Amino acid sequence: MGLHREPEQDPAGMFSRKTRPERFADRRARMVARQLRRRNIRDEDVLAAMGEVPREHFLPREHRAAAYQDRALPLTGGQTMSQPYMVAAMTEALELSPGQRALEIGTGSGYQTAVLARLAEEVFTIERLPGMAAAARGLLRDAGCDNVRVRVGDGTLGWPEEAPFDAILVTAAAPAAPPSLEEQLRPDGGCMVIPVGSRRIQQLVRIRRTPAGTTTERLMECAFVPLMGAEGW
Ligand code: SAH
Repeated sequence: MGLHREPEQDPAGMFSRKTRPERFADRRARMVARQLRRRNIRDEDVLAAMGEVPREHFLPREHRAAAYQDRALPLTGGQTMSQPYMVAAMTEALELSPGQRALEIGTGSGYQTAVLARLAEEVFTIERLPGMAAAARGLLRDAGCDNVRVRVGDGTLGWPEEAPFDAILVTAAAPAAPPSLEEQLRPDGGCMVIPVGSRRIQQLVRIRRTPAGTTTERLMECAFVPLMGAEGW
């Protein structure tokens, strides 16, 4: 018998099978504590959702080990999965309540979609890249998100057949809020969270629609990939 015992030589195979999911679960709990609670994400439902959705599941294999790092991560085709803090802050800003319907523009990996799916009754999500949408649909199904519908198309035009929405989240940067999306907000208090600005840098804003008109609040500075399309770039 040698002095060193490699984990993969463990005859029962217990080491690799038992530690991997636990390692991700530990990292996820630490991410919620350090990256979210400490930076003032307060909504307990959002914190619970972030503590439950396995971010690693939505990443390409080569990036899974980095799943809970405090940063955005690369997806295919130059797109990115937002930093955990940004996903939590955008979700919190939507102020979703149970029973509500949400529209997401820019499905990407499907990770943000899965977080929304834990808080809303139904989530509608639009992705312009067909390969990305197909991959996200599979990952969302495997994650048990059965209250999500994924559609391929130009999200700047929204999903008129399913409007109005209580909440709209745009996860790509727009030159200005697309009028079609504003029109699909519930007229009495519907909220849209969207990065608006130049191609390089934007302000995350919350637009609230009321019978008296719309109000816009600035939330924070951010940098997203561009929203392409008829009412985008
Ligand atoms: N929420 C995603 C972020 C993906 S990055 C995640 O957590 O992984 C933004 C995504 O918006 C990209 O997948 C990009 O293809 C998509 N996108 C850009 N313009 C779009 C448009 N007009 N309609 C729908 N999706 C769009």
